Amino acid sequence: MVHAPTRPTQGMPPVRVNLYSDTQTRPTAAMKACMMEAETGDEQGGLDPTVDELCARMAALLGTEAAVFLPSGTMCNQISMLVHCAPGDAVLAHRTAHILTSEGGGASALSGVQIMGLEGEGGQYSPEALEAAIWQPSRNAPPQTLVEVEQTANLGGGTIWPLETLRRVADIAHGHGMSTHMDGARLLNATVAAGIAPSDMAAGFDSVWLDFTKGLGAPLGAVLCGSTAFIDKAWRWKQRLGGAMRQAGICAAACLYSLDHNVDRLAEDHVNAAALARGLAQIEGITVQQPQTNLVFFDTEATGRPAGEIATALRHEGVMISTMGRFRGRACTHLDVDAAGITTALEVFRRVLAA
Ligand SMILES: *Cc1c(COP(=O)(O)O)cnc(C)c1O
Repeated sequence: MVHAPTRPTQGMPPVRVNLYSDTQTRPTAAMKACMMEAETGDEQGGLDPTVDELCARMAALLGTEAAVFLPSGTMCNQISMLVHCAPGDAVLAHRTAHILTSEGGGASALSGVQIMGLEGEGGQYSPEALEAAIWQPSRNAPPQTLVEVEQTANLGGGTIWPLETLRRVADIAHGHGMSTHMDGARLLNATVAAGIAPSDMAAGFDSVWLDFTKGLGAPLGAVLCGSTAFIDKAWRWKQRLGGAMRQAGICAAACLYSLDHNVDRLAEDHVNAAALARGLAQIEGITVQQPQTNLVFFDTEATGRPAGEIATALRHEGVMISTMGRFRGRACTHLDVDAAGITTALEVFRRVLAA
């Protein structure tokens, strides 16, 4: 599960098709021009008009009262747990959730919470599994105070939680007096693919955030949304953790640019992911999980070769993927990969796997 970033290594050819992650996109000239023009001010003091504009737009998009600009998605998750929970509380999430597997143990180190990892296919647990994991409140049991979902579920294969499931999960959580949190790192991939408004997708969640550094192509930034009371408390933690910034409008401008130009085009990434999956499925020994968005997970066990070995061979031919387990590879489409890049990647895959 743990993977180290693949760096350009000495003796390696340049990367031709980067399917490693949608985090590796570079700001375009047009985005940079927008950043150059940004009006800025001291963000800590609430004086940056570009940050204010981004937060207002995000609150409207996700249907919440307020929003706060943060440096990263990880900080959105960590601050949400800090606000919703007290030390010793339990958070219910899928066992592959980013907050459980990929945030350096921040949940226990910072909030002092324990995360209960629920089972379920595709990075999603069922409402029934959630019900079954809820304890009778007692002096022995840790208080269960927060229910978390990840839209899309990254390690689940970029799957989309259906609206109906989200509604039921939120109702169950609230029915037991718990808060709800949506890790929306790739929320817009889900809304574009499903044709559902972001505010509908986020309804029922007390906190929800969006990452601008995944498919949206901005260099940094995430926006956490919630009620005015929640965001007030989030601001306290932003300050405490050193996430309060200065002329952050430079970065917020890139996020605004991405909202204007890079949302609808996520559909192209999904088409490219589907094409890649179709091609990979035709290669002997490769089993592909049908992608719902921009993440393509595949199993290499039947080839007899670990995913890492295949990834290295691909890298020698200029194609970069990531590995998510001994025999599990992940290829991620994004705005720096076009249909021709997919064709190239598939050629290289076929050559490497024939060898
Ligand atoms: C990338 C990611 C995060 C963390 O976002 P950063 O901006 O990299 O800190 C959180 N959750 C999921 C599902 C992610 O894919």
